Formats: sequence, structure tokens, C-alpha cells
Amino acid sequence: MSNYTYLLLSVFIFSGCTSSNNKSYIENNSIKHVILIGSDGFGAYAFNNKANIPNIREMMLKGSYSLKARAVFPTSSAVNWASMIMGSGPELHGFTEWGSKQPELPPRVNGTDSIYPSIISLINEQLPNEKKGVVYTWSGIGYLFEKSLVDLNYNGKSDNDTLDKALEFIVSEKPAFTFIHFDEPDITGHDRGHDTEAYYKAIQTIDSHVGTIVNTLSKENMLKHSAIIFSSDHGGIGKTHGGKTLLETEIPWIIFSPNVSPKGALNKSIVTYDTASTIADLLNLTIPNYWRGKSVLKNN
Ligand SMILES: [Zn+2]
Repeated sequence: MSNYTYLLLSVFIFSGCTSSNNKSYIENNSIKHVILIGSDGFGAYAFNNKANIPNIREMMLKGSYSLKARAVFPTSSAVNWASMIMGSGPELHGFTEWGSKQPELPPRVNGTDSIYPSIISLINEQLPNEKKGVVYTWSGIGYLFEKSLVDLNYNGKSDNDTLDKALEFIVSEKPAFTFIHFDEPDITGHDRGHDTEAYYKAIQTIDSHVGTIVNTLSKENMLKHSAIIFSSDHGGIGKTHGGKTLLETEIPWIIFSPNVSPKGALNKSIVTYDTASTIADLLNLTIPNYWRGKSVLKNN
């Protein structure tokens, strides 16, 4: 190889690396931990003056958000949690119902544990030395990710138990990805009704969990390398959900990180399956062609 060819090649390789790693919206390519907080049945409609949610509002103030992000149909739990972490809708991953324990439709791509590959598979392949875990109060989450690939699979007995275990995992293992599922305010929505005093009390408790997570990351000196995403699987109307109203379909989508440029309210269309692609973008992973979601952070 001539010196000239070598120089050309070096320039090509070097510029190739910098262009793929330098993202204007992430400072110094510095996200090492992504924490996805999913609060079941937290409708975007609930962001009104009845809601006492200072910690979540602070994330919005210092980050980027949409209160017009959408669930996929039906506006039920398993189908939406699967879509959120699998980067695709039910037509592709095959989980189509509220409590699907296996895909009713064969997945378009059959991955580890015979399910459509989620963000867990991507991290496992592309960041093999990094830890990842899923902590969840609703047992139905346990069917929607690659259990054989995670470092923590924990079904909490309550949201408090889920919170404690998640924090223990984050602090001791410094994972690249933690998915924390809280079962409220969905439980209260079904028992007492959506948009009720009891419902707003339940979301206030979720807000304090969010505050505890942010404070713990800060205390552990991890916050500067972390990105926190807050979202939900669906909203609700009366004592139910699963239908086609905006109250059931519109979900909050919020991201906060000291190292991700804050954009405030986002006008773009966001569907829950964009969450997985955004997490992949934050961790600098290559997004597979068969995923349908797009990173919310990119200008496209
Ligand atoms: Zn749900």
C-alpha cells in the first residue's frame, strides 16, 4: 500500500468514525446509562392543574417532551409495552392483546427466546460487556423481553418493591439499560376511575418515585452520564382503556439528560415504538432495518 493510499484510507476510516459517533444533540457521546421509566395507565390528559407532579415537570422543563405521543392499537398493556421496547408495532412483533403471554401472530423476525428482538437483544449484541435489567410490578411484562439475556429480571411485589430493586441494581451494577415498570396509576384507574382525585394521588406517588430515581443517580455521580425517559403504555377513560379515544391513546413521552440538548415541547409525531430506537440512538447502537421506530432526538 502506498503512503498516499494509506493516508486516504486513514482519513476515510477516521471521518467515518467521527461522523457516526458525533451527534450534535448528545454532548461528547456521553450517555452510559439509560433508564426507561414506564408508568402504567398514565394518560397524557393527566398533565393538567390537578396533577401535583413536580419531579416529572422538572424533567420536562430541563428536557424534551411530547404530551401528544401515541400508543399503538389496541390501547392495552402488553401490546404497547412490547412495542415500546421492540421498536415496532404489533403487526411485526405479534403481541396483540392486553395480556399476551406469547405472540398471537408469529413475529416477523424470530429472535432470542422466540420473540421479536427488543432493545435487550441490541445491547446484548453490540455492548456485550454492559449490564441490562428489567424490573416490573405487572407480571405481564415478564413475557415481553429476552429473559435469558438480562442481568436482572425482577417482578416486584409492589411499586415500592420495584423501585427499591431497580435502585439497588442501578447503584451496584451501573447498567447501560434499566427498564422500570410501575403498575400505578393503572390499578387506581380501574378501581376508582381515571381523572379522579384518587387517580391524581396515584400519579403523585409515581412522581415521587421519579424524584427518588433522579436523586439517586445524582448522589451516585451517575446522572451526568444518564438519560431518563418517562412514558406510559396507554391512558384511560372512566374505569377502562383499550379503545380509540385520545384519552386512551395519548401518552406522555419525556426525556431528560444533562448531556442531551433540551428542546422543550416537541412537535413531531411520536409513537411508542420510537422509544426503543431513541434508546439505541442514545447508546450509539445500530438500529436494525426491521425496526420501524425512529429516534425522537434526530431531526428527521
Ligand atoms: Zn397498561
